[in-house]
Amino acid sequence: MLMTEKLYYTEPYLKSCSAVVKQSKIIQDKFWFSLDRSLLYPGGGGQSADQGKINGKKVQEIKVEENEIWYHLEGNDQPESGAPCEVELEWPRRYYNMQQHTGQHLLSYVLEEYGFRTVSVHLGEKYTLIEVDGGLPGQDQLADIEDKANRLIREAQPVKNYFVSRDEIAQLPLRKPAGDWKNLRIVEIEKMDYSACGGIHVGNTAEIGYIKISGLEKIRGNIRVQAFIGARADEYIRSLAAWENALKQELQTEPAKIISRIEMLKSDISRTTKQMQFYRKEYIDSQVIKIAAETGGNKRLIFRRDDLPTEDVMEIARQLSGEHKLVAVGLCGDRFYLTAPSPEHFDTVKFLNEKGRDLELKGGGTPGFAQGISPLKNDELIYQEITKFKN
Ligand SMILES: [Zn+2]
Repeated sequence: MLMTEKLYYTEPYLKSCSAVVKQSKIIQDKFWFSLDRSLLYPGGGGQSADQGKINGKKVQEIKVEENEIWYHLEGNDQPESGAPCEVELEWPRRYYNMQQHTGQHLLSYVLEEYGFRTVSVHLGEKYTLIEVDGGLPGQDQLADIEDKANRLIREAQPVKNYFVSRDEIAQLPLRKPAGDWKNLRIVEIEKMDYSACGGIHVGNTAEIGYIKISGLEKIRGNIRVQAFIGARADEYIRSLAAWENALKQELQTEPAKIISRIEMLKSDISRTTKQMQFYRKEYIDSQVIKIAAETGGNKRLIFRRDDLPTEDVMEIARQLSGEHKLVAVGLCGDRFYLTAPSPEHFDTVKFLNEKGRDLELKGGGTPGFAQGISPLKNDELIYQEITKFKN
């Protein structure tokens, strides 16, 4: 069987091609086939697999098995052996992967020049993470690193990919030592960075576009550098500009004053909250006195305040029992609060157990305080039962 032509290596800028079906197999009802030439990268080296279509059908899965690249199509389509196929690559996604992968090599190279050696990398859909050792870079240092990386991008340094034999590997100043390979694929940012890598890269550094370092995070004693690269850097900068404009609009201030404006708003909120707490307490106290004065000597009462927050109705009921020794039912919307000065005097749980069903009061609590839902607005009926109830 002829080796599959790896077009993703030989022609990384090719966006579509014709191919012929080589082999096919069925595994657990899934139809898989291989092609004589592969435009789609099956993934590896941290770079995700390409997406694309074969004969107009989406490639749902792509895998390497027995030294062969296998495709599974949506709808389980089954092209016959020897059949011609048209393969289309989802180019924007692939191109971002190429930008990102090359950008990561370049950024790792510059980080290393500043004493931060790459320990591991994560090439995400949105951003790139490079874990480095060597301590925490300062803000100035980080700016220098970003500037240098972007200067090397503007210089359009050639990026080359090639295979080397085991003997040749020893001659190369690889940034990271390679394992024991017969031959190895190298990506070289000309005369600067040499890395062993099976991924796909852009042809020169200018195509990376831009690198924006967006944050640092401490992890396992190392530092994780987050960066937006290429198309994602453009999107990131665009979104920053949009946020800045939205904040300017919303806060009615210039960008340099946004933080102090937020500080001011926070202190306004804290002052207003304190004032509100003061007036709330004053209001609740006045309502307790008013309701207690209107009982006409009755030790049991009911009041409804749909206009107040439920927690305030609960507080009023609690104070009527606590300070005025009254049995009180506070109602607010479909909530009820039943309070009593002491369980010996009036057991609220016992009342709910005996009368709750008839009155459609659903809830529970302790013998001095019960709460729950009262879906019927049968305030008068509840009051009658409260008045009659004996422990
Ligand atoms: Zn690479």
